[in-house]
Amino acid sequence: MIQVVHTIKEVREAVRQWRKEGLTVGLVPTMGYLHEGHKSLVDRAVKDNDRVVVSVFVNPMQFGPTEDLAQYPRDLAADTRLCEAAGAHLIFNPEPEEMYDEGFCSFVDMNGPTAELCGKSRPIHFRGVCTVVSKLFNIVMPDKAYFGQKDAQQLSVIRRMVKDLNFPIEIVPCPIVREADGLAKSSRNTYLNPQERQAALVLSRAVNLGRQCVENGERDTHKVVEAMKACIEQEPLARIDYVEAVDFQNIQKVDVVKGETLFAMAVYIGKTRLIDNFIVNI
Ligand code: AMP
Repeated sequence: MIQVVHTIKEVREAVRQWRKEGLTVGLVPTMGYLHEGHKSLVDRAVKDNDRVVVSVFVNPMQFGPTEDLAQYPRDLAADTRLCEAAGAHLIFNPEPEEMYDEGFCSFVDMNGPTAELCGKSRPIHFRGVCTVVSKLFNIVMPDKAYFGQKDAQQLSVIRRMVKDLNFPIEIVPCPIVREADGLAKSSRNTYLNPQERQAALVLSRAVNLGRQCVENGERDTHKVVEAMKACIEQEPLARIDYVEAVDFQNIQKVDVVKGETLFAMAVYIGKTRLIDNFIVNI
């Protein structure tokens, strides 16, 4: 039976017991409303570790004042069923007050990789992510932690943070899981009405087009980005937030496709902001 706990103390007790037994521990941090994308992370974690903790926490600190914190979908019962079926051992589902008590005033912040892409349109987002992930690392103290390439900038930022702050944790990247028609799975897809759901396919179409351009030999990132933008602009319900090419290691803009290059986009479909990306390694 999977255990669902709400306090830091309970997590620490469970992990302390596992460690006494010499077991390894994997952590999958999530905001809940779990889907096949999250499940692929849990599956991988179950394969790699003796015990797996899934955190389910809609972290207020990473949402801007005009963002979707209040309406973000939640369903702990369904999340519990998914995690149990996947073979996870513990769900950590704290209230915001458990994570941020009165007087909380310490933050983990970063320069550089957080300046571009989502960091531009969501200025406080990565400070919230780095702070909560650091806290989860300190609470669970896992051997490995699992992050999806769906949030490629977040993956790069967390890798850098782990290196910079010497967390003794291996970060395991996991590939993007998509719907049958190509749309990257996301808890936010539930915001889309049927017409928007159809329009949202323009993101994966742009990903495929961009990848094709690079496979056909294009090395000028601006030309690839222009082709992707032109593709997205054909969809009347879509509004581009950004489409950019950056070095995947440091998230700085690049002119030429070389090494690990991340092509990332954020696009509004109606009021819903969706992200997608692909990485090439030349
Ligand atoms: P979230 O609940 O959106 O914060 O996501 C939790 C973790 O699941 C993050 O590491 C995401 O990158 C990952 N994730 C979300 N959607 C997908 C997906 N479609 N494919 C792979 N990983 C995903």
